[in-house]
Amino acid sequence: MAHALMPPAHPFDDDKLREECGVFGVVGVTDAANFVALGLHALQHRGQEAGGIVSYHPDHGFNSARRFGYVRDNFTKQSLMETLPGALAIGHVRYSTAGSKGPTAIRDVQPFFGEFSMGGAAIAHNGNITNADALRRELIERGSIFQSSSDSECIIHLMARSLQRKVPDRMQDALRRVEGAFSVVAMTRTKLIGVRDPLGVRPLVLGKLADGGHVLSSETCALDIIGATLVREVEPGEMVVVEHGEVHSHRPFAPAKPRFCIFEHVYFSRPDSILGGRSVYETRRQIGVELAREAPVEGDLVCPVPDSGTPAAIGYAHESGIPFGMGIIRNQYMGRTFIEPTEQIRNMGVRLKLNVNRALIEGKRVILVDDSVVRGTTSRKIKEMVLDAGAAEVHFRIASPPTAWPCFYGVDTPQREKLLAATMSEDEMREHLSVDSLKFVTLDGLYRAVGEAKGRDNGCPQYCDACFSGEYPVIPADMIEKGFEMKAAE
Ligand code: SF4
Repeated sequence: MAHALMPPAHPFDDDKLREECGVFGVVGVTDAANFVALGLHALQHRGQEAGGIVSYHPDHGFNSARRFGYVRDNFTKQSLMETLPGALAIGHVRYSTAGSKGPTAIRDVQPFFGEFSMGGAAIAHNGNITNADALRRELIERGSIFQSSSDSECIIHLMARSLQRKVPDRMQDALRRVEGAFSVVAMTRTKLIGVRDPLGVRPLVLGKLADGGHVLSSETCALDIIGATLVREVEPGEMVVVEHGEVHSHRPFAPAKPRFCIFEHVYFSRPDSILGGRSVYETRRQIGVELAREAPVEGDLVCPVPDSGTPAAIGYAHESGIPFGMGIIRNQYMGRTFIEPTEQIRNMGVRLKLNVNRALIEGKRVILVDDSVVRGTTSRKIKEMVLDAGAAEVHFRIASPPTAWPCFYGVDTPQREKLLAATMSEDEMREHLSVDSLKFVTLDGLYRAVGEAKGRDNGCPQYCDACFSGEYPVIPADMIEKGFEMKAAE
C-alpha cells in the first residue's frame, strides 16, 4: 500500500492542468544533496506525488533516495541526507501521468540511474516523450529490460545502446532519437549536464553560486532559495556540460524555431520566477490588463480565484478602475489535512479549499478572475458559493484562451472530450456555468501579454499554444497511434 503514504497532490483540485515534473542539479558544493533538496522544495508546485535525489561521492559512489510525498517530509531528515554525500547531485519532483497511471510506483520515481561500461550516469527528465511507445517496443525487441513504466527510462536504454565512449556523447545519441518535450538534468561522476529539446518546450535555467558551484533548475525561484544567481536559460536545443567549474555548450540537434510552452506563463511556473527575461508575475498581471481591454464589464468588485488568478485580477482591476478585493480566501493548509478523504468530505469539495468572504461580496456585481477553465467543475462550484454569499451578479474573466486540446508535452490534461471548451462554444459554456457573463483572453491578447507586441499571427506562433489552438509543434505519434485525431489543417 505504498500510495497510502503519499500526500494527495490536489485532492479537491482536479480541475487544473498539472505540470508533471521539476528538475534540479548542483555541482561544486559540499553536500550537494542538501542544496538539491532545497531546490526541489522550491519546485514542489511542479509535482507533489514523489521526489528523488541521486548524489555522487568519490569514496561512496552513486547513492540515491526516492520517496513518495513532499520534499519537506522526506529530504529534511538527517539520517536520509547523510546517505547522499558528495559535491554533485541531481533531483526530481513528479506528478505522474506518463509512466504508471494512478498512484505512482516507486520504480517510476526519478532520477533514473544506469551503469555503463565507462561509468554510471543518472538522469531526471521534465517533459514527455511523444514517441516513447515506439521506442520502448524497439528497445524491448532488441533485448532491453525496463525497470519502470516511465517513458523517461527510454533515454537510459538508448544511452546504453550507443557506441559512443563518453556519457555526454551517448546522451546526445539517445536524445536525437527522442521526440517531444524534454528538459533533462543528468550527472556522471564528474559532470553536471543539462539539455533542452530543440523547441525548448519545457524550461531549464543555469545558475551560479557565489563560491563557484553551478546549478541547473526548472525555474529561477529555486535558484533564489539557495542563494544562486541566474546565469542564463539553457537554450532550446542546447546541451550544457559543467565540469571542474567550467560550462561547455554543445548543439546536438538540428536548429529549430523555439516553441516554449505559453502555459508556463499562465499557470505552471511560480509568479516569482523569471521566464525568457520576464517576470512571471508581471506577465500574469499584464494578461489581466489585456483581458480588461478585450472584455470589459460593469461591476463593483474584481476578485481573484486564489492563488493563481491573483496577478491577472490585479491587472484587470487596475486597467478597469474597478476595486480589487479578496472575495475568496484559500485555506493554505488543506493539502495535508485529509490523506485519504472520505466520501462525505469529498462532497464538501471546493469549500474545503476555498471560502467566500461574505462581507466583501454581498450585494456586489462580482468579476471573478481565474487562470483557466478545464472541466469547469470548480468554476461552477465557485459561482454557487459566490451567489450563496449574496453576490448580485457573477462575471467570469479567464486569463487564458479556452483550453480545447490536451497537452502531450509533459502536462496532465484530461481527455479531449472532458475539456469543457472542446465540446462547447463560449456562449454554451456561459450557460453551462450559469454566470452572467464569461470571457476568455484571446490568443492574441495572451501573446501581447508575454511581450509579442503584434500578437500571435505576426508570421508564425513563437510559443507552443497547442492546448488552445490545436496546432501541435511536435506530432504526438504515440497518441495518434492510439486514435487521437489532430485538428484538420485550415
Ligand atoms: S500544449 Fe499547452 S500546456 Fe502543453 S506545452 Fe503546449 S502550451 Fe504548454
